[in-house]
Amino acid sequence: MIDLRLPVEPLPISEPLVVRLQDANAASEHDAVLIDRSEDRREYDYRGFSVVVGAPASADLHGDVLMLLPGKQSAHRLIRAGSNHNTFLLTEQCDQLCVMCSQPPKKYHTDLFDQFLIAASLAPQNAYLGLSGGEPLLHKGRLFEFLARIVELRPDLKFHILTNGQHITEEDADFLSALGGEKVLWGVPLYSPEPELHDRLVGKPGAFRQLERSLAIFARAGAAIELRTVVMKQNNSSLPALSDYVHAKLPFIQHWALMQLENIGYGRMNWEKCFIDTSTDFGAVGIALSRALVRGIEVSLFNFPLCTVPQPYRHLAPSTISDWKRKFLPECSGCPLAATCGGFFEWYSREKGFIRMGLCEA
Ligand code: SF4
Repeated sequence: MIDLRLPVEPLPISEPLVVRLQDANAASEHDAVLIDRSEDRREYDYRGFSVVVGAPASADLHGDVLMLLPGKQSAHRLIRAGSNHNTFLLTEQCDQLCVMCSQPPKKYHTDLFDQFLIAASLAPQNAYLGLSGGEPLLHKGRLFEFLARIVELRPDLKFHILTNGQHITEEDADFLSALGGEKVLWGVPLYSPEPELHDRLVGKPGAFRQLERSLAIFARAGAAIELRTVVMKQNNSSLPALSDYVHAKLPFIQHWALMQLENIGYGRMNWEKCFIDTSTDFGAVGIALSRALVRGIEVSLFNFPLCTVPQPYRHLAPSTISDWKRKFLPECSGCPLAATCGGFFEWYSREKGFIRMGLCEA
């Protein structure tokens, strides 16, 4: 697992500080330039102050963006310049309580949008950044300010924003329209075509109907939507009907992702109740996929190890687990599919997971 925090020597700061680490030559006022390095420690000059970061000699930190917090001995590695899996956690607040949530909500929020704006402005050219929560649109005003500013500062960047779709109103249509469908892909979860079941899975009465209204506004504004459905015991049998619903009611979406469960947060707490072993029971997922494909819906399987997917559907299962939380098992060594397989979440438990895996033919 790649650590998204690095040890630092605390700085005399009263506000969070965002710096970009450079091996040589500052290219912006936020750059800290390497002046000394040893086996497990690097020292950078940041406007005359010393920034000391702990990291093994093998770690490439050039271009990484860190956020240092007052009095703290570790820094958030907001951007790893060599990775395509950089996500800013905008808030941990959320108004839903999804049964499979990997990042259970917290009550309090610290507004770090100004720091995230600086961090994004320092990202590598053409970076694709994730913005997630909690529910980012609980802080819609700040989020929209951030987006308006960053597309002006860095028109080369693109964003993937996860939202529960509960907070979009008609008043947002102009902003979304101006933002366009090129810069932002909105990842929006929908678990069932049955309102009652969707509401139960997200722990919020009326969520389905609100989501329908929000999706319509997104569509009219020309926003790009990635519909996301976690496959669980509770909604598995309704997946073929969900496929019909997507075709009939949501033809404007860009992409539909059927996702395997992540065993962390509430996903771990409710694992027995939710996890469906699609390595032995792929029936409903297969029908949902086939119906989507014949109707021209772009559909994918996220977080499905390739050997757990029947061969005819494997081309729909890209490697999607972020590099920092991805692992492979002993069974994977020598696997002919390993180069394209996304493997498992770091916290995946073999004992509680897929029965059928590792039986791969190229
Ligand atoms: S055995 Fe191969 S296909 Fe299966 S999870 Fe490991 S690498 Fe992926």
